[in-house]
Amino acid sequence: MKIGIINEKKDNRVAVVPDLVKRLIDEGNEIIAEKGCGESALYADQTYEDAGANLVSRTDALKSSEIICTISPLDIDDLKQLPSEAVVISSYQPYHSIEKTEEVASLNLTAFSLDMIPRITLAQAMDVLSSMASIAGYKAVIIAANHLPKYFPMLTTAAGSIPPAKVLVMGAGVAGLQAVATAKRLGSVVRAFDTRAAAKEEVESLGAKFVEVEGAADDKAAGGYAVDQTEEFKQKQREKIFEEAVKADVIITTAQLRGKPAPTLITKEMVEQMKDGSVIVDIASSTGGNCELSEDEKTIVKHGVTIIGNSELAADVPNHASQLFSKNIHNFLKTFLKEGKLEIDMENEIIKSSCIASKGEILYGK
Ligand code: NAD
Repeated sequence: MKIGIINEKKDNRVAVVPDLVKRLIDEGNEIIAEKGCGESALYADQTYEDAGANLVSRTDALKSSEIICTISPLDIDDLKQLPSEAVVISSYQPYHSIEKTEEVASLNLTAFSLDMIPRITLAQAMDVLSSMASIAGYKAVIIAANHLPKYFPMLTTAAGSIPPAKVLVMGAGVAGLQAVATAKRLGSVVRAFDTRAAAKEEVESLGAKFVEVEGAADDKAAGGYAVDQTEEFKQKQREKIFEEAVKADVIITTAQLRGKPAPTLITKEMVEQMKDGSVIVDIASSTGGNCELSEDEKTIVKHGVTIIGNSELAADVPNHASQLFSKNIHNFLKTFLKEGKLEIDMENEIIKSSCIASKGEILYGK
């Protein structure tokens, strides 16, 4: 199959790095890459050429791609240039918006959405959400430390003592646990909170304190995802978070609910009571945010608190993020690309869940 790689319009990452180009060619495929596709992630054209890719213009790459993997979904102008019945692979998030899926279906393309890959052990090595979330959790702490007008670690010096920064992590999933680990490494005192009972042990194993609010609904049938909570629980949670938030120097929020807006955990009133100079990094900003005041893709200062809304922090570590993304993509491709030929088995659980459109039909939700 001819596999295309193109320059992301709004992202520094690239979906396929030169190392994967070589492997895909060894497996019987041909690679057509847009010139400069890996430049912003520090993968030079020469490395793509050395790996065996044909470097061409964007239009030529699109026109020849029978399969194309991208970090963000292609826009309609790009999609229209693909051969009919091409396979497009990206994160379409059909549960947040069906428009992109409708676009690919209207063009008779077959679309796989990486965020729809089921959370089963077999699919762990394909889980783009987890690899990118882990980078985001790390980067959130680094950015917070950069904005905080204080030290993170405790210091005892001849000029006096500095207490450690207090970091509160809301949502202890993949991103949250990496934030906990990074904040601990920087020497801060870390507390973390989650509605899933399983998170307690994980937080404690990283040396942080788990903030408990009793009575959370924790649905084992939700496939590792959190579920919405009762009003009674939410009220108890708000009170507990208020107590913790006013003490914190940094709050990293990562709480998500699959297919729904992110829960509001930090209210305007809490921000008003936080210490001047404190920092909130809201990783959930693209789905509404966990902080009532955060604005997606913006850094603002409200009531003396710096609030950073950014759900694409992995794009700020483009070299390693692209490397991990590529590895996930390779493992995913292997489920339906055998010796350079497409073998799409709709009975396969991973394919069935992630194939959201085929032959003009939207398959998501069916
Ligand atoms: P996510 O991005 O959907 O949510 C982030 C965290 O926010 C979760 O831990 C969630 O419980 C928490 N959260 C949601 N509502 C909250 C609220 N009101 N208050 C506080 N916290 C709230 O989840 P994620 O980080 O991608 O993954 C969650 C878990 O799923 C992981 O810890 C892992 O155990 C599991 N997982 C399994 C696989 C797999 O088996 N393939 C892959 C990825 C994750």
